[in-house]
Amino acid sequence: MAILNIRIIGDPVLRTVADPVTEFGPELAKLVADMTETMEDVDGAGLAAPQVGVSQRVFTYRIGGVEGHIINPVLDNSEDFQPDEVEGCLSIPGLGFPVRRHRRTRVTGVDLHGDPVEVEGEGMLARAFQHETDHLDGILFTDRLEGEDRKTALRAIRNANYDSITEQTTAKRARTVGTSFGSGSAGSGSFGSFGNSQ
Ligand code: ZN
Repeated sequence: MAILNIRIIGDPVLRTVADPVTEFGPELAKLVADMTETMEDVDGAGLAAPQVGVSQRVFTYRIGGVEGHIINPVLDNSEDFQPDEVEGCLSIPGLGFPVRRHRRTRVTGVDLHGDPVEVEGEGMLARAFQHETDHLDGILFTDRLEGEDRKTALRAIRNANYDSITEQTTAKRARTVGTSFGSGSAGSGSFGSFGNSQ
């Protein structure tokens, strides 16, 4: 297994609609294993394949002790919404804003063997499914912001020096490779790297 490099906003892969997975072989199993390891390494709540430069419809998640992956996910969202919660994103380091998400969602898809999977969740789990599925459609959480939050976020992204952040993050990650992954505070609800980056 390997820790993968996380792509940062500005990388076109994050704005590309990902392709459905059609090959369920060892390459896919390795991708899921590496994505899971990478997500754990940065203590993230979820990771989508485009974030590691792979334009395929795969995401991993880790919320409240529930960890898994979904391939070719399709969401069935409730019509109502949950209270806004601050989201971050590993691909937009250092930024967090409240995002409107559907209260409940049922995600259907397949696992790495191609067997059907169905998971239903609300709260943070529903939020993660919506955040990660957005990634597969080239959508970032900042696209969901409105009004002043949107302006502030876009300004911050414009002014951010992501090159140096990427280097720092890569260096930090390089140091953690080979150490054990004992922290695992699953359920922190962080989609980003708050508190453990920069
Ligand atoms: Zn994200």
